Amino acid sequence: MKHYHHWRLENAPDAIAWLYFDKEHATVNTMDAEVMEELSLILDFVATHPDYKGLVIASAKKQGFIAGADIAQFDQFEDATEAARLLRQGQQIFQKIENLKIPTVAMIKGFCLGGGLELALSCRYRVAEEGIKTRLGLPEVKLGIHPGWGGTVRLPRLIGLFPAMNLMLGGHLLSAKAALKCGLVDAVVPERHLVGAATYYASQTAAPRPFSKINQLLNISKVRSVVASGLRKKVRAKASPQHYPAPFQLIDNWEELGLMDPTCFQQEAETCGKLFFTDASRNLVRAFFLQERLKGLAKQSTFSPEHIHVIGAGTMGGDIAAWCALSGMRVTLQDREAKFIAPAIARAFTLFKEKLKEPHLIQKAMDRLMPDPEGLGVSKADVIIEAIFENLDAKQALFKSLEQHAKPNAILATNTSSIPLDEINTVMESPQRLVGIHFFNPVAKMLLIEIVEGERTAGTVTDKAIAFARKIDKLPLPVKSSPGFLVNRILMPYLLESVAMLDEGIPAEAIDKAMTDFGMPMGPITLADVVGLDICLSVAEHLGKYFDAPIPDQLLRLVGEKKLGKKTGEGFYRYSKSGAQIKPKQSAPFQKPLSTLSDRLVARLLEESEKCLAEGVVTDTDLLDAGMIFGTGFAPFRGGPMHYLKSK
Ligand code: NAD
Repeated sequence: MKHYHHWRLENAPDAIAWLYFDKEHATVNTMDAEVMEELSLILDFVATHPDYKGLVIASAKKQGFIAGADIAQFDQFEDATEAARLLRQGQQIFQKIENLKIPTVAMIKGFCLGGGLELALSCRYRVAEEGIKTRLGLPEVKLGIHPGWGGTVRLPRLIGLFPAMNLMLGGHLLSAKAALKCGLVDAVVPERHLVGAATYYASQTAAPRPFSKINQLLNISKVRSVVASGLRKKVRAKASPQHYPAPFQLIDNWEELGLMDPTCFQQEAETCGKLFFTDASRNLVRAFFLQERLKGLAKQSTFSPEHIHVIGAGTMGGDIAAWCALSGMRVTLQDREAKFIAPAIARAFTLFKEKLKEPHLIQKAMDRLMPDPEGLGVSKADVIIEAIFENLDAKQALFKSLEQHAKPNAILATNTSSIPLDEINTVMESPQRLVGIHFFNPVAKMLLIEIVEGERTAGTVTDKAIAFARKIDKLPLPVKSSPGFLVNRILMPYLLESVAMLDEGIPAEAIDKAMTDFGMPMGPITLADVVGLDICLSVAEHLGKYFDAPIPDQLLRLVGEKKLGKKTGEGFYRYSKSGAQIKPKQSAPFQKPLSTLSDRLVARLLEESEKCLAEGVVTDTDLLDAGMIFGTGFAPFRGGPMHYLKSK
């Protein structure tokens, strides 16, 4: 049999062909032109060999099935026409899978995304491993495009229009169990049964599922136009067509042609080809590569922590411990007394239930998280994270003791948000051991972690902290230990400026709308309410020591009145019991264009960003853009503050 660079075709005794994808010189399977050409040749070979009774497509990598198309190829297309032509070729290769007369199965373990799922969708069956790492989806809209290898047609045909649109328009990923529930996969099994399940389906002779009644109804042109306008309204509530054209294009395509028109695939390729050349897509691809850069930091490090000890089981420490246990680490959680740890364990249980679903996986995660009021984990842990009260003396006393009892090669980390590392480490015998691992709240949602280097922090310790962040699937951003680090330092003046606008009589709603129109996920006034006005004030006071940043009257007044934002039911806005924001009854209309407000607020944010760069808080503009996109949600389709500044 011919030798291929990226694929391996093996025969099982039962006449089932096993096609393993093992992309050369890569740790993860992604699909590029060469991979697709080889796949095409192999499918021709299988189609002409009548001995085969079934075909299973699987990954030979340790990690994941297929991550999707190779995004590095995206900016190599000459123009939209060339992009569409190449997409069409890809569709035709997947069509060869669908055309095979024998049963075809995608055996999925780990991620199965974008083009990888489109390949799986062209198989007759899909079986998936049950683990937490198995995730299926078509997240193309997050790159400013829509699926282009047949996904926009095959997914709704398989699971129905609404679940498919829901998945594609938001770019969400499904767990194996959720994929089973909506019919995206045919079976979900533990790893040890995966090969057996794939073999079983590859031996099935059942005909493909018929087109459902509801899909037939939704395929009527008049019904489509009503449904499409409902879908557009739903998407518009979250994203504007101007900033994110891809989901709207996807709806337009479906409205125009439905799912059975023979030109559906051609249309998909053409509109996807055009989307590659929008600013939104270019900038979202940029954001993707910024994320890859953060993921690749300290890639060489061999540090592989297994045991994490967290001290302080409050808001942050409790959630950090839970996240580490969810990521497969053994975790001991210490606080002053057992009663302070119990609420954190209860919260962890809720998180595990939400993320893991399966009772036996939840139980295993609970077993990994151990309450440890006596601190027995200190001498065994590879990483020790302090998350006690924000108090210099308390932190110093703790680290003085920790360096005596911790393993010599364990890293000692503080989650402080404001105390300079070089103040904490003055009492330590080995100050080079202290590093900041600054998580954001809520830990389970925020991707970014600032890895804070003090003047004396050893480079090897920073690298270990970065490697740890990757182990728990977070994005590490190395920053200098300076007041507010990067994210809070830039965010706070922007928030204070927005509150100063309130003091000037500008309505909160106008300020928030100006910034959501700009592309921020939330307006600054709402953000302040969500973070908590007491926390905003304390960070502002702290940063005010270093920078000339007057504190607005309204912030002082509300904190004085214990109106601390969403958590107390009132801050700048009022909130219902369920936490929903109550619209102010009569807010005076703002007469000028909202862009005058966003220009002013963004200018403040850019000004602070430039100062951070000048002071070396991060080493380059890309890291700053990455920090702001992943730490604050700064409009990703604008490519980050510095990129935005350059392109203005
Ligand atoms: P918290 O008050 O919710 O929790 C602190 C916990 O530490 C309490 O349970 C307390 O009992 C325990 N504790 C205090 N002293 C201790 C000691 N000597 N030994 C063991 N346990 C002790 O505080 P938090 O909001 O979780 O903040 C913790 C740290 O994280 C602070 O340094 C804070 O600046 C930082 N931080 C907070 C946020 C946030 O949004 N809350 C975000 C990032 C960083």
